[in-house]
Amino acid sequence: MFALEASTVITPTKILKDTYIIVSNGKIVRLAKTLPKNFEKVDSYEKCIIAPGFVDIHTHGGFGFDIMCSNVNDIRKFIGRLPETGVTSFVPSTVTDSFENLKLFSEKFSSIGYVKGSEVVGIHFEGPYININMAGAQSRAYIRAPSVEEVKVLTGFFNSVRKRVTVAPEVEGGIDFIKTLRGLNIIVSIGHTEASYHQALQAFSAGARIVTHIFNRMKSFHHREPGAVCAALNCKNVYAETILDMVHLHPATVELVYRCKGSKKMVLVTDSVAGAGLGDGTFKLGPTEINVVAGVPRLPDGTLAGSTLTMDKAVKNAVKIGIPFIKALEMATLTPCKAMMVRGKGCIVEGNDADLIVLDKDLNVVATYLKGEKFFLL
Ligand SMILES: [Zn+2]
Repeated sequence: MFALEASTVITPTKILKDTYIIVSNGKIVRLAKTLPKNFEKVDSYEKCIIAPGFVDIHTHGGFGFDIMCSNVNDIRKFIGRLPETGVTSFVPSTVTDSFENLKLFSEKFSSIGYVKGSEVVGIHFEGPYININMAGAQSRAYIRAPSVEEVKVLTGFFNSVRKRVTVAPEVEGGIDFIKTLRGLNIIVSIGHTEASYHQALQAFSAGARIVTHIFNRMKSFHHREPGAVCAALNCKNVYAETILDMVHLHPATVELVYRCKGSKKMVLVTDSVAGAGLGDGTFKLGPTEINVVAGVPRLPDGTLAGSTLTMDKAVKNAVKIGIPFIKALEMATLTPCKAMMVRGKGCIVEGNDADLIVLDKDLNVVATYLKGEKFFLL
């Protein structure tokens, strides 16, 4: 048993001053103003903030590793480095590829075993059942009609974590497909889509609960054809993934999302690719080659291909554009957990996993604790 202490603890639904977080067996057992007598082991962080670890529900890789292309050892290395950016849990995302390659990925990823690093709390298949006109960096050659049989095989490799599929609801049979996936307890998000407002509403009624990177790879908002963007902003139960790298969205667009969704439904994600955490260069994104120039990954034709964003940077960017820090933290911790129906994480409360980060006054990650174990200290 040990305790952590900082001048400020953000849970993130509350701000607590001069509070000890008592940890035992990887769990938060109590929040206390004073410690019991003879309690010796305390990690104290002066002038720092303790927050829950970040939860990134949309990443394709980082630190030179693309999760689709990497071997098991390299995936382990990627997982081992994520805590450097404050990420204590994450949801790896595939890209559109052949069934064989998605199956190979699923076999590989589900066999990695325990790794000291960020915890895998879900799996996200981004496509291949999307709209070819909204492919973006997704490989057009492998975009195809929805297949429940494929999804059953692919998600079958991941029994202990949440499963999610990004679907374009307007494709042939799209709405029935969403209903079937929900019946299989698979989370559905809509994205890479030209859905009309009505089709998006139908998708939400059928059980879709998230929009994959709102605005990006969705039909543009038009006042007479408002589309999926407007449906997502209007429907109060829908979670909106937001890539806050200052490249994918103009800050004013982020502000609009925040005004409509608030911190309870806006989710900060990285959509990061192998180049995240590194300098410029050429990297793989599944079957596709991408170039990172001035920190921005693109296909050779200039199409944006994910980001080099990290979660700590996303939170800093949110604060930079005027979103209150406590709200930015919520959108990087508790809200993503709720979107992916992950329990026991994302909030500093008794009984939850002791996945904690320590931030300095400039919001840099000073230390990361994974289930109570100190991982990273500058
Ligand atoms: Zn993505």
